[in-house]
Amino acid sequence: MTLNYIAGEWLAASNAVPNVNPSNTSDVVGEFAQASAADVERAIDAAFDAFRAWSHSTIQTRHDCLNAIAAEILSRKEELGRLLSREEGKTLPEGIGEVTRAGQIFQFFAGECLRLPGEKLPSVRAGVDVEITREPVGVVGLITPWNFPVAIPAWKIAPALACGNTVVFKPAELVPGSAHALTEIISRAGIPPGVFNLVMGRGSVVGEAMLKNIKIAAISFTGSTSTGEHIAQSCTTAHPMKKVQLEMGGKNPMVVLDDADLNVAIECAVNSAFFSTGQRCTASSRFIVTDGVHDDFVAAMAERMKSLVVDDACRAGTHIGPVVDQRQLDQDLSYIRLGQDEGAKLVAGGELLSRDMPGFYLFPALFAEVDNRMRIAREEIFGPVATVIRARNYENALEIANDTPFGLSSGICTSSLKYASHFKRNAQAGMIMVNLPTAGVDYHVPFGGRKGSSYGPREQGRYAAEFYTTVKTSYSFGGNI
Ligand code: NAD
Repeated sequence: MTLNYIAGEWLAASNAVPNVNPSNTSDVVGEFAQASAADVERAIDAAFDAFRAWSHSTIQTRHDCLNAIAAEILSRKEELGRLLSREEGKTLPEGIGEVTRAGQIFQFFAGECLRLPGEKLPSVRAGVDVEITREPVGVVGLITPWNFPVAIPAWKIAPALACGNTVVFKPAELVPGSAHALTEIISRAGIPPGVFNLVMGRGSVVGEAMLKNIKIAAISFTGSTSTGEHIAQSCTTAHPMKKVQLEMGGKNPMVVLDDADLNVAIECAVNSAFFSTGQRCTASSRFIVTDGVHDDFVAAMAERMKSLVVDDACRAGTHIGPVVDQRQLDQDLSYIRLGQDEGAKLVAGGELLSRDMPGFYLFPALFAEVDNRMRIAREEIFGPVATVIRARNYENALEIANDTPFGLSSGICTSSLKYASHFKRNAQAGMIMVNLPTAGVDYHVPFGGRKGSSYGPREQGRYAAEFYTTVKTSYSFGGNI
């Protein structure tokens, strides 16, 4: 059995669950310990006790620890990428790419340890100085989803530790293997016991125990909108309230204008909607295409989709791996049925596939003749299911793109500087992509959205310090000179 990591020790639990490979359900990746509420309390106590010393550790110490983590992740990226692909189902290049990004994130935040910002300003009062400093928040609880099992934990853990916080990390139930491997690396990096703790298990047990515990000062969450809303409510009605950061769902639009390079638009669309099996919060599931190019776009998409290979995530030549599990597959299939019931036209794909091994194989689905009011255009499906919505012109396309409860990523394919510039200013999303897929972001710049997609400060880059620190304003009077 693979264990939880609490107060610097690997601890067994009374319960363990098997972790199954979605490309081959007869392949069990491992048995993973399920933490109890008492285990979570022990982890939080350990993090609370370790906070004082870690928050006063030198920036050199923190830098060296994060650098050691980065170095080991990067040196083992093929092996860790294979584990990730085996348990989550993204293709091997995608798995290795994600692990590489995680290593780069730790490298970036190792550097950030040496650049924690502060300010010194003159006061409006004579002889008084004002210093603005940033201090760590305390014990932070990190709750993550299954779809980026290494990169999302990395972009929370690295800034949390860099800023001097201690951590209780709760990964998603479906991907304990990657969380465990990352924790092993962190446990070897010279970080004192209690500073970092791993508690695997169910949201309703482990997550809830974190929300209820007053020793946790802040929760950073990535996952579904409904869980996020519940977490926000728990954090803001707690005594004392917890700081909270939420990254949630998306229904990201990609506008294609008549003047777009059609080849670029098709490659952006296929990547955005179907790579990583459409299981990315930044995936595009709404292609909003102007009249002049609409029919050519739909025909070219259907043609391009014929060459997509859906197979075992770790097999060479696979473009799209399986859906992550039976529950997600059922959800994808029910939306494909719903789209047909709502009157949309299934132009390509959408069928279950059988392969050498039993797995959750679904050919990507493309719907045309979609109205933006249909549920398949409004609700996050989180699978390889995309819709095409016809627009009269650019203005109409922009209006449809913004007509969504979400606001994470928004894309446009055009050769017009005028429309690209206007779209960058007027698209209601946290991230804008011009002639690029809506998914696929850099690791050194802010990540996050608006409206129903995000709440609280941005993740990643220098902006991450906004959540992982609290600002202190100190005044001192040295006497009038
Ligand atoms: P989820 O909300 O089901 O679970 C996310 C995490 O919350 C898991 O670790 C889960 O165990 C935990 N959790 C569940 N109930 C809880 C509770 N009551 N208290 C505390 N924790 C609880 O989401 P998921 O299915 O793992 O992930 C898919 C979702 O994540 C999609 O909606 C996707 O858009 C979103 N996502 C968003 C981003 C982003 O940055 N915006 C990135 C990746 C994924």
